Amino acid sequence: MSKPNLISRRGVIRAAAAATAMFACPVIAKAKPRVVVVGGGAGGATAAKYLRHGSDAIDVTLIEANRRYVTPFTSNLYLGGLKPFETLSFGYEGVAAHGVGLVFDQVAAIDRANKEVRTAGGARLGYDRLVLSPGIDFRWDAVPGYSEAAAERMPHGYRGGAQFQLLKSQLDALGDGALIVIIAPPNPYRCPPAPYERASMMAHALKSRGVKNARIVILDAKDHFAMQTLFIDGWERHYPGMIEWQDPTIHGGIKAVDPKAMTVTTDFETHKAALVNVIPPQIAGRLGRDAGLADDSGFCPVDAGTMASLIDPAIHVIGDSATGGEFPKSGFAANNEGKIAAMIIRADLVGDRRMPVRFTNHCWSDLAPDDAIKNGARYTPQDGKIVMSDPYTSQLDESPQLRAKQAREAAGWYIGMTTDIFG
Ligand SMILES: Cc1cc2nc3c(=O)[nH]c(=O)nc-3n(C[C@H](O)[C@H](O)[C@H](O)COP(=O)(O)OP(=O)(O)OC[C@H]3O[C@@H](n4cnc5c(N)ncnc54)[C@H](O)[C@@H]3O)c2cc1C
Repeated sequence: MSKPNLISRRGVIRAAAAATAMFACPVIAKAKPRVVVVGGGAGGATAAKYLRHGSDAIDVTLIEANRRYVTPFTSNLYLGGLKPFETLSFGYEGVAAHGVGLVFDQVAAIDRANKEVRTAGGARLGYDRLVLSPGIDFRWDAVPGYSEAAAERMPHGYRGGAQFQLLKSQLDALGDGALIVIIAPPNPYRCPPAPYERASMMAHALKSRGVKNARIVILDAKDHFAMQTLFIDGWERHYPGMIEWQDPTIHGGIKAVDPKAMTVTTDFETHKAALVNVIPPQIAGRLGRDAGLADDSGFCPVDAGTMASLIDPAIHVIGDSATGGEFPKSGFAANNEGKIAAMIIRADLVGDRRMPVRFTNHCWSDLAPDDAIKNGARYTPQDGKIVMSDPYTSQLDESPQLRAKQAREAAGWYIGMTTDIFG
């Protein structure tokens, strides 16, 4: 006896419908191009968002080590007591809302040959294009006696939220007669005016708490620094006798730091300090260097017109890790570069419109509440390098009203910038 036919009538109709659909629509959906972005800071989060902004033609995944990003920009105001820590911290919900896939993990390696990124957690993500924005790393051994472990006693306060909080807790614990030593790095480093804005904000915090006879000594690797005359003028007006800047001809070089003894020894003397802020020389984030994308400078050379690596054109390096002419290392610039990389990649992969590449950079520094100075310039690619034009800087004789307006401008910029990156 033959077996009963177990396929139901409804099943037959479904199968027939599926077969009809198969023959009626022979087009197999084409996989979307895949872009992986590593680093969800000022550069990377911007690039991820703008790769998806108004279009879902590209699959975009952002890999970031931390679930929240703490902006280094305006962290000095937090030190100065002008901003609570919470206002520096951002999540990635806004970026995800644009259709960006999020992976919270440390990227361990880039396999350039197979166009694949591997995370510490074991994930492997293939890419057609990779955007790298891992920020900076430090030359830890450049300051004798300093190390990653020493940064727990002598914070650099130059990346990562915990370091800003450590620096602030040390600052808040200082009493009368305290000595702060800031070791300022050689060029190039992120945000050239930041160490000097930091000195201003530390002095402001101590002054507002009524701490007496505290001193801040800046031991610099450079013989001059950004907006120098404006900073020195501000220090004389707001914190007379409190901040002393020494160039290498005065201190003769840093011979050693001792985190246990809290001393800094120069060619001429040993400072016994209550707080030591060591900002070491900087290089590109480890990932780009390990992937062989850096040159002898320690940074990753790129074509300024596309932000594509000169070593691997499938990888765009943006933000502080990149080098190529007079790129400023700032959040403002990283945000611009993120948009440029997104535009170029969209044009290359899905034929979106390509506009001329150019951008500006403006940088505000607070000397005291309602007293901010600024500088900036335009940037245009020429022969693959970025070239600066029309630089400007604040003037010594600016009115208090203009300085107060610039301080409000800086606060407005921060809201606009963080909304553009994370909104
Ligand atoms: C004190 C201070 C003040 C500043 N003030 C200003 C200012 O007023 N204006 C201004 O424009 N700029 C300012 N800056 C500079 C600005 O913060 C940087 O230039 C900017 O953040 C650079 O962006 P980025 O994307 O290159 O790096 P970041 O913003 O540092 O982002 C890098 C991200 O990559 C992630 N990452 C790194 N490696 C990995 C990995 N292997 N796997 C996964 N994720 C990884 C990190 O967790 C981080 O989130 C200031 C900086 C400092 C320190």
